[in-house]
Amino acid sequence: MLSKLKSISLSNWILIGMVLGFLVGLFLNFFVTDPFIKDIVLIDNVFYLGGTLFIKLMKMLVVPLVFCSIIVGAASISDIRKIGTIGGRTIAIYLLTTALAVSIALALGALIEPGAGLNMVASADTSNVTLNQTMTDTLLNMVPDNPFSSLASGDMLPVIIFGLLIGIILAKLKEEVQIVSDFFTEANHIMMELTSLIMKFAPIGVFCLMAKTFAGLGFEGLIPLAKYILCVLVGLAVQAFVVYPSLLVIFTRLNPIRFFRRFIPVMFFAFSSSTSNATIPLNLEKVSEMGVSPEISSFTIPLGATINMDGTAIMQGCAVMFAAQAYGMDLGMAGLITVIFTAVMASIGTAGVPSVGLVTLTMVFNSVGLPVEAIGIIFGIDHILDMFRTAVNVTGDAICTIIVSFKNKAMDIDVFNGKKEPGTIGMDFD
Ligand code: ASP
Repeated sequence: MLSKLKSISLSNWILIGMVLGFLVGLFLNFFVTDPFIKDIVLIDNVFYLGGTLFIKLMKMLVVPLVFCSIIVGAASISDIRKIGTIGGRTIAIYLLTTALAVSIALALGALIEPGAGLNMVASADTSNVTLNQTMTDTLLNMVPDNPFSSLASGDMLPVIIFGLLIGIILAKLKEEVQIVSDFFTEANHIMMELTSLIMKFAPIGVFCLMAKTFAGLGFEGLIPLAKYILCVLVGLAVQAFVVYPSLLVIFTRLNPIRFFRRFIPVMFFAFSSSTSNATIPLNLEKVSEMGVSPEISSFTIPLGATINMDGTAIMQGCAVMFAAQAYGMDLGMAGLITVIFTAVMASIGTAGVPSVGLVTLTMVFNSVGLPVEAIGIIFGIDHILDMFRTAVNVTGDAICTIIVSFKNKAMDIDVFNGKKEPGTIGMDFD
């Protein structure tokens, strides 16, 4: 019995926690009338404690995790100069597709209104960021007056900018600053380990959050959740089957159906593993079977798995709209632009492993002052969405790789069109 329980994976435990929390919440809502047991003991103490503790642990991770992973990510782009325009082009396309992805999600969120009718009330401890910033303020606030105070107060945009600059300098100075470079790489490793450790607590945290939510909400709370799932899935489908094929046709005139026919196994693998990182080898193999020069893909695919997360950005855009509507907050134009910018940055800071998109979501929420506890409601169903979005994340990497490869004449069109077997082809580096 015990060994059977031990063999259940963490994601399944999270799912179990979610379902149990939901059922317990509904049970309390409909069948328990004693306010002492229901409200005072369970909702306001036991569930509140378990749920809030979990959210606090998640929040604790954000600043160091994002800071270290942005530094390490930027430092690893050291090869950009070696391969000239390819690096710039790749990063530009990666950022552009992510910005497009989060914009689609925000539009869908406004249309589907997943959070409408939830009428949640934020607890006092939300964020210190004022909502009514002008665009100029938003831009100016990206540069920290004092990076240490930004780090201490968890002000994410300046932290990201500071991290990016440090990473770029590390990449430039290379061996001269090897010790500091190694320090951040190892710190990043430690933060990833800590994340997995805290994730072990997720099933209990999710149970408490769900029970607390549904003890108050009942069945009507399910509709917003279903609408949120719909919003994310439609967004992912638009990105994968409208945006990517269009980009492929516009930039290369290659046939998207040919692409998908060959690429499907990579999407399935990413779907079932929920990790872009683990999908790198298969992705490399498939794009090279499609005629991409390995000299390009060996750089762009791992880079994409680290910094390009269009699917994650879609989930984050939908989650922002969900929470803003649930708490009755109007983000305004400046708020939406901040969300686009932070979600693109979060995509750089999201490691290609399961669930990290949820951790960096706190940073997007913080940037516009949304209550982080809203993440608790969507946490339970995130594992399933993580599978779908990871499949889109890796598709984005492959599409951008093909475009960059095509533009740099490092792609064999005959191989793509199935007229020739794949082989090594030359490319014109500048
Ligand atoms: N699981 C995603 C990936 O590996 C990251 C995330 O959104 O959590 O691409």
